[in-house]
Amino acid sequence: MKIVLGGGLSGLFLASNKKDSLIIENQPRLGGVFTYEEILNVNIPFHPPLTNYSCEYFQTTEVKLRIHMKKENYILRKIYTHELPKWLIFNEKMFYVTNLIELIDNLSKKVKVLHTNIKKIIQNNKVITTNNMVRGDEIFVTISRKYIADLLGIKNDKLRSVSMLELIVIVPKKDRGWDVYINGDNGISYSHIINAYWISNDYDILYVLIPFTSSPPIWDKIFSDLKRENILLKDEILAFRSRIIRDAILIGEDDNVYPENIKFCGRLGKWKNFTLCEAILDSLNC
Ligand SMILES: Cc1cc2nc3c(=O)[nH]c(=O)nc-3n(C[C@H](O)[C@H](O)[C@H](O)COP(=O)(O)OP(=O)(O)OC[C@H]3O[C@@H](n4cnc5c(N)ncnc54)[C@H](O)[C@@H]3O)c2cc1C
Repeated sequence: MKIVLGGGLSGLFLASNKKDSLIIENQPRLGGVFTYEEILNVNIPFHPPLTNYSCEYFQTTEVKLRIHMKKENYILRKIYTHELPKWLIFNEKMFYVTNLIELIDNLSKKVKVLHTNIKKIIQNNKVITTNNMVRGDEIFVTISRKYIADLLGIKNDKLRSVSMLELIVIVPKKDRGWDVYINGDNGISYSHIINAYWISNDYDILYVLIPFTSSPPIWDKIFSDLKRENILLKDEILAFRSRIIRDAILIGEDDNVYPENIKFCGRLGKWKNFTLCEAILDSLNC
């Protein structure tokens, strides 16, 4: 059996491409970054899948983005890195992946999944979870490489990351004068806001990204920043979700040697800020 750790897009593509595989995922839903939920009768991805180029795995539609930048020279410092991940580079013309939810649903039906927490890896081939022991010939890691190194007792202090609090806010439609708002001001909690206006004919869906390294800012600070910058008032909100993405921006490289039957794939396994297309290509070749 092949054990695939993580059921994001990399884990889903990997498991559906290999016979006799089992995904171990610690969240109730599959899809990782692009998990979705039906809110106000619309299927809403928890992050809008945008790319600068289309690739063979998806159907896309072109979207036009009006980009507004404030203190853009400080944006790298604000997100604690020296280089923007490609998925944080916005252009006036981009492609929105239209069939990602359908793809996640279809792949999810094809794979076997155990929703549980990984506690230990022993003898390099047995994964101990909260209430099971699963034995595999190969283990494919699409979750944090750093976490696996810890479980294997391998010292790994070169890998760092920035986490993000992401708010998904549904509000009445209005012209804000921008579709992507990038703010490098260190006094403001969020770095990027995307208005995925094309997802619904009835509502605007705002995705607010708040980078942090130790703990996220408090809600009062976030909402007062949104109000101060004229982005949003609490009273306008029709529905609201939030989630924390640990290891959103990945920094550093790992030169440790790992057991041969443990393979690292996807963005968290390779510890690279892959785009969607790159993550899938990597997992299919892993
Ligand atoms: C916030 C954000 C926005 C992005 N936006 C875009 C974009 O618009 N366009 C683009 O091209 N690329 C984007 N990317 C990059 C793109 O998402 C990825 O390259 C690709 O989707 C990664 O898929 P993945 O399966 O490798 O990782 P993930 O989607 O992160 O999936 C990892 C999975 O592993 C699970 N997991 C984690 N830890 C454990 C554990 N201990 N035990 C069990 N399961 C675990 C998670 O729950 C998750 O399901 C974005 C990345 C981030 C972080």
